[in-house]
Amino acid sequence: MSYKLGDVILSREAISRRVKEIAEQIAKDNGKDKSLVVVGILTGAAFFLTDLVREMPEDMDIRVDFMSVASYGDSTTSSGIVRIFHDLKSSIEGKNVVVVEDIVDTGLTLSHLLDLLKNRNPASLKVCVLLDKKERRKTEVKVDYCGFSIPDEFVVGYGLDCAGMWRHLKDIKGVIEE
Ligand code: 5GP
Repeated sequence: MSYKLGDVILSREAISRRVKEIAEQIAKDNGKDKSLVVVGILTGAAFFLTDLVREMPEDMDIRVDFMSVASYGDSTTSSGIVRIFHDLKSSIEGKNVVVVEDIVDTGLTLSHLLDLLKNRNPASLKVCVLLDKKERRKTEVKVDYCGFSIPDEFVVGYGLDCAGMWRHLKDIKGVIEE
């Protein structure tokens, strides 16, 4: 099967506006405690995370760390298997943490990851996702910040890939199977 790019689902302008709003909300919720560890889930969320943290106030003490997990192979359907490839570099014990993910679909990846991070005793642990496919959920995940809810359609761009392709697109687009 081969894939072709479909229509724009979310434009770069809409994404950029929403990213700014979420960054402001996260900073506000973090309150007087200006320190925050922002954990990005590689590879998809790296694009979202770098835009997000650059919209946060300069006087915040923001640390960025990454984890690499996978629940998808080269196909467009979930395997349900979550593997950890790369762990955080620093301890999150006693820290305010926001986990940044590109998309929550079945919720399996995030729920597994959150269980793991909770065991490391952060002061707080919140979840920020750019996209949410609510109707596909198989396990409950508390999403604190969500960019956009989208229907059950496979999308690419702004970090999201299809068999490794199209992460670099500025807009989020659909994919057509041929
Ligand atoms: P979950 O464990 O919630 O089912 O899946 C989360 C992961 O599935 C995301 O990090 C992402 O890699 C992948 N995923 C789910 N839906 C999509 C989609 O529409 N497009 C792309 N590119 N990846 C998706």
